[in-house]
Amino acid sequence: MKRLLIFFTSLLLAAAAVAAPPLPEVEVVKINERVYALLGPLELPNKYNQGYTVNSTAIIGDRGVILVDTGFTDEVGAHLARAVAKITSKPITHIVNTHNHGDHMLGNSAFKNVEIISSEACKELVEKTGYEWLETVENATKRKFPNTTPVPATLTFKADTRTDRTIQGVKLVLWVPKGSHTPGDMMVYLPDDNVLISGDILVHNITPNFRDGKIKNWIGTLEQIVALNPKTIVPGHGPLMTTAQAVAMKNRMATLWAGVEAGYKKGLNDAEIRKTLDLSEWEKLHYFDDLMGGDINSAYLEVEAENF
Ligand SMILES: [Zn+2]
Repeated sequence: MKRLLIFFTSLLLAAAAVAAPPLPEVEVVKINERVYALLGPLELPNKYNQGYTVNSTAIIGDRGVILVDTGFTDEVGAHLARAVAKITSKPITHIVNTHNHGDHMLGNSAFKNVEIISSEACKELVEKTGYEWLETVENATKRKFPNTTPVPATLTFKADTRTDRTIQGVKLVLWVPKGSHTPGDMMVYLPDDNVLISGDILVHNITPNFRDGKIKNWIGTLEQIVALNPKTIVPGHGPLMTTAQAVAMKNRMATLWAGVEAGYKKGLNDAEIRKTLDLSEWEKLHYFDDLMGGDINSAYLEVEAENF
C-alpha cells in the first residue's frame, strides 16, 4: 500500500512538473561543519530559472537553522528548505533578510513560525515595496505566484549598528551599515567561523546594481569589510569570495566614483563622462551591458546631489 502511495505521489509530482520547469538545483558549498553556502544561478530572473537567482546561507545551530535570504518566491523558499533538509534534520527557526530586494526576501512566505530578522529600514521597505517586487518576478517569469506575499521582519535593528547575538548557540554579528546597496542592508558576520554573509554589498563576477544604493557609503562599507578581513565571504550573487576579491570590487567602485566626480566637475553630462572612463575591469562582469549605463547615471546623480 505504501509503495502504491509513493508511486501515485510521484506521478502527481511529475504532472505538476509539466506546468513549470523545475527550479535550478541549489549548489551547496560546505564552508565548515555548521555553515553552508546555498548558491543560486548567476542569472537575472526568467521563465527558466523561475526567479531563483540568489545566494543563501544555512547556519546550523544547536537546535535549529538560521537561513540567510530566502529567494524570490514561496517556491524558491520551499526549494531552499528542501536543500537544507538534506543537510540537517533540524528545523529552520530563524531567517535573516540582507535587504528588501525581492530575490532576497519574498521566499519568506514559505516559512511558518520563524523569527525574521532585518534592518529597520528593510522592514519598512518590504511593507512599502514588497508587492512591486512580486510584480517584478511575475513579469520576468511570465507566471503568477499566488502563494507569495511580502512577509516583513519580526525583529529589526537600527542603521549604522553592529549587534552581537547568539542564536541557536552560534555567535553572530548583525551588522547594519550606513545604507549602501539599499537604504536597509544587513550583513551577518560569524566571528568564530570568520565568515561574512554580505548580501548584495558584495557580488562576484556580476555588475552590482546601484539603483537603490548610496555609492559613497557603499565604498566606505567595503573598506570596513576589508578591514574585518573575513576568510570567506558569501556574496549576494556569484561564487564565494575572499577578502582580496572584495578589495578588487572596492577599487573598481572607488575608481568609477572618482572618474564620475572628475567628469562632473568639468561640467560633463553622464553620457560624456562615460566616454572618459576606463571600464575594462567592468566589461568582464556579467550583465555589464544591462546595468552599466544605469550605474553611471546613479553615480552621476549622487555626485550632483553632493555638490549642489
Ligand atoms: Zn540580489
